[in-house]
Amino acid sequence: MELNMNDEPEVQIGTVNDNLKLCNTGMDNHHTKNKEMESSNEKRKNYLSWDDFFMATAFLAAQRSKDPVTQVGACIVTLDKKIVGTGYNGMPIGCNDDDFPWGKNNPSTLDNKYTYVCHAEMNAVLNKNSMDVKNCSMYVALFPCNECAKIIIQSGIKEVVYLSDKYSFKPQMIAAKRMFNASGVKFRQHIPSNQRLVLDFSKINSNMTQMPNTPEKYDCK
Ligand SMILES: [Zn+2]
Repeated sequence: MELNMNDEPEVQIGTVNDNLKLCNTGMDNHHTKNKEMESSNEKRKNYLSWDDFFMATAFLAAQRSKDPVTQVGACIVTLDKKIVGTGYNGMPIGCNDDDFPWGKNNPSTLDNKYTYVCHAEMNAVLNKNSMDVKNCSMYVALFPCNECAKIIIQSGIKEVVYLSDKYSFKPQMIAAKRMFNASGVKFRQHIPSNQRLVLDFSKINSNMTQMPNTPEKYDCK
């Protein structure tokens, strides 16, 4: 699985070569095995940073979106690095994805997605699984609009970490920054360590040397 946000920058951790290298460690090869044992006490080097992890979580949530043009995800994180909410842009609960419009160019407001879609930031706040999100950070792919900025401020979130600010010229984003500055919500851009993140579901079965030892069988009688 490969995460890709249309024209948004992608996050990548681990390269194709890295994956191949991990696959090869499963081969019955003395040299490879010895090398592996030598390094077995060292921690893995290319693990995800917290910022990359939370931003990737936001991007993964975005993959749930039915919007044909823009998929945005958001992830709310406590001060002690616990995820307490995720969201993506979508129709309100009970509003069938097949019955409501996904187009944005129809002159009729009633046939326009903007009238109906809940943004990722709003959904992340409303989906929270904690009492509140006071002093939390929100990771989001796109800089929030003014409506989401209001929700972020009112919910007590104190930091917004965004990846792209490609609509910074729009009044909605200018207004959002104005409100964030006035209310003391910090915002910063996250530059991912890598532009692409590849999730390879088959990898878990590729390195047999990491399998636990077969447990001893006890006679229960
Ligand atoms: Zn918004």
